[in-house]
Amino acid sequence: MDIDKEIEKFVLQNSIKFNGKANPGAVIGKLMSVDPNIKSQLKELSLKINKKIAEISKLSVEEQTSILENLAPELLKKEKKEHKKELPDLKGAEFGKVVTRLPPEPSKYLHIGHALSFLINYMYAKKYDGWCILKPEDTNPDKCSKEFADAIEDDIKNYLGIETSETVYISDEMDYMIEKADKLVHKGHAYVCFCKREDMQEFRHSGKVCSCRSRPSETHLTEWKNMKDRKYEASHCSLRLKGDMESTNHVMRDPVLWRINYTPHFRHGDKYCVWPMYDFENSVMDCKYGVTHIFRSSEFGEMRNELQNYIKDLFGWPKQVITHYARFSITGSITSGREIRKLIEEKKVSGWDDPSLVTLQALKRRGIVKEALYDLVYQVGLTLSNTNIDWTVLSSINRQILDSKVNRYFFITEAKKIKIKNSPELVSELNLHPDFPERGQREFKTGSEFYLEKKDIESFKENSLNRLMDCINFRKRNNQYLFDSVEYEKFKGTGEIIVHWLPVSEDLTKVEVLMPDSSIISGIAESGVKNLKIGDIVQFTRFGFCRLDAVADNKFCFVFTHK
Ligand SMILES: [Zn+2]
Repeated sequence: MDIDKEIEKFVLQNSIKFNGKANPGAVIGKLMSVDPNIKSQLKELSLKINKKIAEISKLSVEEQTSILENLAPELLKKEKKEHKKELPDLKGAEFGKVVTRLPPEPSKYLHIGHALSFLINYMYAKKYDGWCILKPEDTNPDKCSKEFADAIEDDIKNYLGIETSETVYISDEMDYMIEKADKLVHKGHAYVCFCKREDMQEFRHSGKVCSCRSRPSETHLTEWKNMKDRKYEASHCSLRLKGDMESTNHVMRDPVLWRINYTPHFRHGDKYCVWPMYDFENSVMDCKYGVTHIFRSSEFGEMRNELQNYIKDLFGWPKQVITHYARFSITGSITSGREIRKLIEEKKVSGWDDPSLVTLQALKRRGIVKEALYDLVYQVGLTLSNTNIDWTVLSSINRQILDSKVNRYFFITEAKKIKIKNSPELVSELNLHPDFPERGQREFKTGSEFYLEKKDIESFKENSLNRLMDCINFRKRNNQYLFDSVEYEKFKGTGEIIVHWLPVSEDLTKVEVLMPDSSIISGIAESGVKNLKIGDIVQFTRFGFCRLDAVADNKFCFVFTHK
């Protein structure tokens, strides 16, 4: 075999598959599968392979593809490597009977970590043909607002495409929860504590019971009623569980179940002045709505599960199957609502949807499609060790999805006009996507003048044959450009670059692209860009994927997705 040719073939193939740069090990593997005897020349081959990789990685994936198309088109056949897209079976899950829930707190915008957690719940409900309930936990009037609640519903339904079976705002269940609290007080499982916050903390820390606890049950019933009847100031007292003050699990040491808060609630105004704490509300609501499976990030911890189970036992309710999954994050990203709020105040980011963030609003604006997030769940979904993935992992999944889905357009950032002598008047038809001619074509009328990227012009070598993509071949000679031919066949195999271009016409579109580092790249694009709608994602040839974000003063403003 012609070893150099084989190396080139496999380097190209691997390089195309991995977005422009091949892996030497994979290439050696392929070579050995063709001829196992080459094992004896590994050292020499490695040198050759690395040299070839360095050479080929300078080309764009499109250029690499067109070379491989000539060299060995059979290697271009898309390898259908279907990941098995199925979640592992769930303990105790019966088909048609699984109920899961999404419990966002409408106190900030959702980020990618929430998305994965919600998708796990939703995808399991679907897997078992069950129900998935959206239950915003809005029982802290100080933190929750309509703005966040609306944004969260929009993210969940319209961006993530989660079809929930029911939406229940927990605050709408206040009467039910108050009734359950009444019952606990009545049965002597809860008491009203008047200790100061610091004292309560100190007692809980040292495991001492306060004097409030031992007062007679009737007193607690009266005081609980007083709490509900607005007789006390917000921090004056609270309703606590009679837990175990000596438990090694500090969470069990008489936690506060209800507290007084006079801040008006965004759904109920000042109808209620006592509000349940998270563990009470969570336990009661999961049972009321027949939730069968709960997914919790591992940081939630067994300690709080013990408390929630204890509360459920007091009512004699069945418990849910709890599955833990690891905390998920993207390297270097900020997810804390408090930190993001600070960045917005300091004008370091433009808002919750600033493309440098990983809030769902930002990911959507940037052009990360929901399918990429579903794929991510299959890949990292239920691992138990904390997962910290690089942005490139997400962008690579997203790219694979977008690659065949979105159309391609020419966009030039630093346009320079050149004249190609003797270039004929042509009508060039270019497919919106090379693999899907049925999606339609763009038509360019061309003459002898073209706009090209300045850096491409600077890279043309004297006398070598260059090609304008799907248009003509030409040569540079004595600082002039001369038409050579039209046929791609003539250019094939020269190893020179194929560049994108624009015809010189008045119909070009002004384009701005907001980059992840907040810089803006401006340029011109083909006229077809004018037909795009806000939200459309395109691939600008040799530049990257971008999502149309706004149109202002005839300027089309995109957000950069990724290469
Ligand atoms: Zn007390």
